[in-house]
Amino acid sequence: MNITDTFRRPIRDLRISATDRCNFRCVYCMPKEVFGPGYQFLKLANLLSYEEIARLAAIFVDLGVQKIRLTGGEPLVRRNIEVLIEMLAAIPGLDLALTTNGSLLEKKAQALRDAGLQRITVSLDSLDNAVFTAMNDAGFPVEKVLAGIGAASAAGLNPVKINMVVKRGVNGDSILAMARFFRGTGHILRFIEYMDVGNANGWRMDDVVTAADIIAMIDAELPLEPVDPSYRGEVANRWRYRDGGGEIGVIASVSQPFCRDCTRARLSSEGKLYTCLFATRAHDLKALVREGASDAEIAEAIAGIWRVRDDRYSQTRSSQTVQLPKVEMSHIGG
Ligand code: SF4
Repeated sequence: MNITDTFRRPIRDLRISATDRCNFRCVYCMPKEVFGPGYQFLKLANLLSYEEIARLAAIFVDLGVQKIRLTGGEPLVRRNIEVLIEMLAAIPGLDLALTTNGSLLEKKAQALRDAGLQRITVSLDSLDNAVFTAMNDAGFPVEKVLAGIGAASAAGLNPVKINMVVKRGVNGDSILAMARFFRGTGHILRFIEYMDVGNANGWRMDDVVTAADIIAMIDAELPLEPVDPSYRGEVANRWRYRDGGGEIGVIASVSQPFCRDCTRARLSSEGKLYTCLFATRAHDLKALVREGASDAEIAEAIAGIWRVRDDRYSQTRSSQTVQLPKVEMSHIGG
């Protein structure tokens, strides 16, 4: 099937949150003030089992999904995640990726690769330990994430993509150091504009360092040139170093919204379908699965949801929309 939404956007990418738990408390995603000791995470019984996730994934692929990205919270904290990766990797023709904070990667990289993972993205917001530990708010050191990136590369998960969320006044001074460090490594560093995902991070427009600012800062020292997108709906704007030092990307959801070509759906770990990162409502697929619906019935339900999809939050962002009761990023992954 080739279903499209009200803006004729097909469903091509599915992001699956394996868990809402994480061992970090990144200030732009899971600030401790909200996700502190008393916070109620989802119980295991409420999570989709790996078999249920794999079944839903196959249904989404039949509807047109070509790429699945496993996210969290932190997906590697869910036990035996390799088992899920093996199940998903068995779906023919699927492009299978995972996003991680890298904390468990040094230990798990080879097993993820052996299970069938094809691509990996690691979050790293600074090379400065004081800045990084302040941002992850879990005291987790830079060198361990770098060791994870090294292990992923050694396992053959190349090029590794590195995501850096940039927040003004917090890690803006780390941009150039990150660019210098990853230039020439073959890995792809992507800068992400700080976003008003959920409501926990207290987002303000003043804290956003725009894509244009970031590119200008790097270009002044390391000349860049733009690169054409490799496919419709690609999230990052691509740039390469003029001296052949490789590629970087910027994800500019705030200053250069890309909703027009958004082909992404999100499935939470408790089986709810979200049609936008900034969604305020969801559709319960787990209930359908557990009530015994057939694959065809579930596919029709998903198709029905997608056909009436009209999300384009980033294009309509305003001081009013920021206050909307949006789903937290840790619940559905980036
Ligand atoms: S804001 Fe929503 S519709 Fe726009 S690109 Fe992001 S996920 Fe897609």
